[in-house]
Amino acid sequence: MIDLHVHTWRCRHAVGTVFEYVAAAAERGIDTIAITDHLPLPPALIARDPGMAAYAMPVVELPAYVDEVLSARTAVSATGGPEVLLGIEADVYPGNEAFVRTMLAEHPFDVVLGSVHFVDGWAFDDPDRREGYASWDVRALWERYFDDLVSAARGGLADVIGHADLVKKFGYVPDGDLMPLYREVASAFAEAGVAVEVNTAGLRKPCAEIYPAAPLLRALNRAGVPVTVGSDAHAPAEVGSAYGEARRALLDAGYRSAVVFRSRQAEEVPL
Ligand code: ZN
Ligand code: FE
Ligand code: FE
Ligand code: ZN
Repeated sequence: MIDLHVHTWRCRHAVGTVFEYVAAAAERGIDTIAITDHLPLPPALIARDPGMAAYAMPVVELPAYVDEVLSARTAVSATGGPEVLLGIEADVYPGNEAFVRTMLAEHPFDVVLGSVHFVDGWAFDDPDRREGYASWDVRALWERYFDDLVSAARGGLADVIGHADLVKKFGYVPDGDLMPLYREVASAFAEAGVAVEVNTAGLRKPCAEIYPAAPLLRALNRAGVPVTVGSDAHAPAEVGSAYGEARRALLDAGYRSAVVFRSRQAEEVPL
């Protein structure tokens, strides 16, 4: 059992220390856990919109975060506990690539999740900013979101694309056939050489389903895109949450194995 997506108190909207997450993983029999807190956002962005300070750790804390994860890894490996990977969830949106690249270069990450949480600076997944949906046509929003996600994949900064259809979080889904869009996205990801994650947080949100939706996951499988599994836990109690559902979704989509990343290299693990 693996969990390659969890957050800590440092991002200011989750609770729990690295050690508490690792202890929860040990308790649940997880073999490999990646701590993947939110990479700091550019200070200029937060200066313009101070509410964004609650989306990620401040820039000055990144070294302490890295030290904490690496020392947890050492302490736990001495006790035969779960393998601890140094991960991060980066906001890879147009214009932020250089900032992300600079931050990533400073630390020995095992795995980088590339996520899109903002469209034109609007945090479309923030429950407190749902009024933004009123000014978008749902299909136009979806096309824009997936365009940005494909650009994130092609940018080469991320190993894994995070919650690949996060745009459905509050249940805004366009009418009509989504398969052409899903096929296009899947082949772009395959070409870019990224993996995707099966993220169980969607089950805890209004959309009430895993990210990505079953038809998208099947398209990804047909395109040959590898997968990881993550709970996107924002509290230690959520570690490994709904792993059984994730595994079933993967088997249904045709997957027989997942991957984990060590020093940014994919290695296959059985489901
Ligand atoms: Zn978060
Ligand atoms: Fe995210
Ligand atoms: Fe996350
Ligand atoms: Zn997330």
